Amino acid sequence: MKKLVTVQIVFILMIVLIPFLLSKSCHTTSEDKVYVDVKIKVWAHEAQKVVEMDLEDYLLGVVAAEMPAAFEQEALNAQAVAARTYAVARLKGLYVAKDGYHPDTPICTDPSHCQGYKTKEQMSEVWGKFSTSRYWKKIQSSVEETIGQVITYKEEITNPVYHSNAGGITESASDVWGTPVPYLVSVMSKGDSISPVWDQKVTFTPGEIRQKITSNSGYSDFNLSDRMEGEIETIEHTSGGGVKSIRLGNKIFEGTELRRLLGLKSTKFEISIDKKGIIHFRTKGSGHGVGMSQWGANYLALNGGTYIEILEHYYNGIIVKSYR
Ligand SMILES: [Zn+2]
Repeated sequence: MKKLVTVQIVFILMIVLIPFLLSKSCHTTSEDKVYVDVKIKVWAHEAQKVVEMDLEDYLLGVVAAEMPAAFEQEALNAQAVAARTYAVARLKGLYVAKDGYHPDTPICTDPSHCQGYKTKEQMSEVWGKFSTSRYWKKIQSSVEETIGQVITYKEEITNPVYHSNAGGITESASDVWGTPVPYLVSVMSKGDSISPVWDQKVTFTPGEIRQKITSNSGYSDFNLSDRMEGEIETIEHTSGGGVKSIRLGNKIFEGTELRRLLGLKSTKFEISIDKKGIIHFRTKGSGHGVGMSQWGANYLALNGGTYIEILEHYYNGIIVKSYR
């Protein structure tokens, strides 16, 4: 009788386990694909054409393009969830760009507009033959381990913006874009300083600044004298420590505007003028500074943080859940 019960238990376990194991293996093939039945039309900005892809396959190319593959697995997983959320939000028509750049597709491959996207072949030229297989496996894991998961806030799919390096503290959406978003507030970003490029210097002569501002802005009446005496003053800082507004010459600029006009890495900058009349900008971090800092995410992962913990740190009050 005991033997019969044992046989029955084994039989029941097999019935339960075999479909489970099969369904796990079906997500991944021996090739480079993760199959999920959601398609997305993408505007391939370099080839100038529309490409339709499986959503999860598209995400492989986004994670590869947007985050260094040498980063920790949990940081890559966090990136995969942020990238998926971004894509799903646009598939649903949320947070759509109003500039009409690609009216027939919800998303494009231009990193300065939507999210970057690179194929395995393109990335192998960056990574080299030796690392490609190892790195691509990490990218695949990031998409597979988080399959179907998105970042939500009060049941709504979020707009999970991210950037390279916050320079030690992130910026709020209200400081950078003028609209408060409850999950995009300023938080500490402890590990940003581990990036080799987190602290950068750039110099300009007064003439170079005049030229950049008049040619990039349409402010033909902009003036900054060669002596610059009393002509540079930071008026207000953001909650994240960036420059919110600054007087430069005869104009007052928002920090974000001056960053764009001068091509600065971030709005976290300090200005000094040397004896030769050269202006030195010392910037901290890289990018708009809102949402997840990728270097900060990697630091949290290095210290044992899971991708959920990383996302919960950078996006205030969110819940990661399956979108179906
Ligand atoms: Zn776009």
